[in-house]
Amino acid sequence: MLDKHQILQNTFGFDEFRPLQEVVVDKILNREDVLLILPTGGGKSLCYQLPGLLMDGVVVVVSPLLALMQDQVHGLTAKGIRAVMMSSLQSYEENNQAEIGLQNGEIKFVFVAPERLQNEYFLEFLSSLDIAFFAVDEAHCVSEWGHEFRADYRQLGLLKTHFPEIGVAGFTATATTQVEKDIVHQLQFKDKNNIIRGKVFRDNLFINVKPRQGNGHSQLMDFLQMHQNEQGIIYTLSRKNTESLSAFLKEQGLKARAYHAGLSTEERHQAFNEFVNDDIDIMVATIAFGMGIDKSNIRFVVHMSIPKTMEAYYQEMGRAGRDGLPSEVLLLYSTGDLGLLGRFIADIENEDYRNLAYHKLNLIKKYAFSEGCRHQALSHYFDDEMPKCETQCDNCLNPDVERSDISEQAKMFLSTVYRTDQSFGQGHIVDVLLGSKNQKVLNNAHQNLSVYGIGSATNRVIWKIIGDRLLEIDALIIGEFKVLKLTDFAMEIMKSKQTVDIRASNLQTQSKALKPKKIAKQEYEVDEEIFEKLRALRAEIAREEAMPAYIIFDNKTLTEMAHFLPNNEASLLQINGVGQIKIEKYGERFLELLATLRTEDFEEPIYNSVQKPVVEIKPVKKLHATYQATLALIEQNISIEEMCQQRELALSTILAHINKLAEEGKIEHTKRQQFFDTVVMDEKVKNWILQGIEQLGSVDEVHHQLSIFKQLNQIQ
Ligand SMILES: [Zn+2]
Repeated sequence: MLDKHQILQNTFGFDEFRPLQEVVVDKILNREDVLLILPTGGGKSLCYQLPGLLMDGVVVVVSPLLALMQDQVHGLTAKGIRAVMMSSLQSYEENNQAEIGLQNGEIKFVFVAPERLQNEYFLEFLSSLDIAFFAVDEAHCVSEWGHEFRADYRQLGLLKTHFPEIGVAGFTATATTQVEKDIVHQLQFKDKNNIIRGKVFRDNLFINVKPRQGNGHSQLMDFLQMHQNEQGIIYTLSRKNTESLSAFLKEQGLKARAYHAGLSTEERHQAFNEFVNDDIDIMVATIAFGMGIDKSNIRFVVHMSIPKTMEAYYQEMGRAGRDGLPSEVLLLYSTGDLGLLGRFIADIENEDYRNLAYHKLNLIKKYAFSEGCRHQALSHYFDDEMPKCETQCDNCLNPDVERSDISEQAKMFLSTVYRTDQSFGQGHIVDVLLGSKNQKVLNNAHQNLSVYGIGSATNRVIWKIIGDRLLEIDALIIGEFKVLKLTDFAMEIMKSKQTVDIRASNLQTQSKALKPKKIAKQEYEVDEEIFEKLRALRAEIAREEAMPAYIIFDNKTLTEMAHFLPNNEASLLQINGVGQIKIEKYGERFLELLATLRTEDFEEPIYNSVQKPVVEIKPVKKLHATYQATLALIEQNISIEEMCQQRELALSTILAHINKLAEEGKIEHTKRQQFFDTVVMDEKVKNWILQGIEQLGSVDEVHHQLSIFKQLNQIQ
């Protein structure tokens, strides 16, 4: 029989193990539970594939994404190893064949989604097999403290309950100490100390982080100049931005393409293949792109705005340079992004998740503003320690000795936060410092404060930079609704017990880059089209009320609105220049318009499983006769089955009628629920559909694919 070194050479083509691989392989062969935390590109999959080949029995691999499973199966098959995935993508027949193959011992690796393991039938089937061990890929999904928590993963403790003697091996690229403890606890490891952690430091990546100027296009072009004919990924926050940026890059003669969850499956496949085959150089993508991508020659990764967590940032930038060759990453950030992400967070209903999300956002903000070694900061975040990289990040390479003392300005800023009862965001604090006469200042009588106008000698841009610096050094923290709060450290600064300084160049570049006249426009990245639509509504109202447009909302307010796209009264109130009276007069109409602008373009970050569904109900004036007929039956209190029979209609049609009638107010919503509660859907079918939706993005798309499938296979 071959030993591990021979398999490493024959099957995988390597002469020697990479750091940590051999340790993990040995532990798995020894049937221990083990958790491996290794950065992307460290060679994780080999760690479970190789021992699988040496052991008797089948390896059950749990994976969160169908695309990931598919890649792994293809990879193994290419090496001549029998592997299958059992999922909603396979037909009943294919899954059946897989079961037979597993029973006969012909298949070595089976990939399954976590939800399948909650199925009693499947668990029973597994217990009839000879299992070598369980591998749990992307194990950080187990933990609520991680960045991609999945409820199905949390149930994976059942592996140990059902198969106490079989080893479990967990794999992830990113986990803090808190997350790793949670993983071994949830997976019920026998030895909870069996954790192996790779170095966080990716020494072939050069990290740049810069404040974004305007839309960042010119900074991006400077960067791309250094990477001609190389492949890379550019991440943006919204779908619309991917489209406009890729169009811009094409105009510059670059081979770029947009990728986001709004594209059809076919378009996404095509884009993916073009990128993998080097037909295009630059993929401009939302976070929807990249998980499980197995392309080793990505030379650069750019973030056009700040990612929502350090984990996401590290994982996304980690897609560069997996072949170990020098690669470069760039993050362009602005305080506007933080406001936008903060607003998404404010919508999270669960308080614990919300606070955690704020906490994580504050940490990445601190990272972006930091003047220390980037690699050291990342290592520190993931509980790994290292000295300064010296050569592989912007801060180490350009240690800026010239510093400006801003203690006096810091005191003014902090005092203003204090005098306004720590209840306002940065924009308002700056307004008070500058002595602005805007509505929000006057409504709160802040013109009467001693701090009003004390900062008028310094311009708005510089005040923003000073505010950011105070956040960075933890003199301030951001609470809900972007409200600034003072820390103990702030008190020491105000009492002159501490000084505050900043890189002199930070004050210079910014003030040079932004011309005071255009501040309102420059402050936020704004989509012209959205701005114009808001302006048109304002003009309409101005005509109706026969008053100047700027009295309704000034341009600055519209700019902020266009940037933040508030979706309820509370968030609309956070916009400068929007007070209670204006909300009452115009709130509804603007929110209505904003809702239409928002849904089309914004790909919201998803925080854990908490999402707010947006249901739009459009009134329909006349009720069609067919609904009337169903309504008559409902009033007779007969069962849904009987309704289907009497009306000779399908169950789905009757259900659609009931929904329609409830929305029209013809029947009570509780009544509707009573009917719905009597309809029992097969769990397997339901899960199959839910997975389809997850895979394809919408139920319509599932429907669409089904129709295509029907036609192709000539099914009536
Ligand atoms: Zn460094």
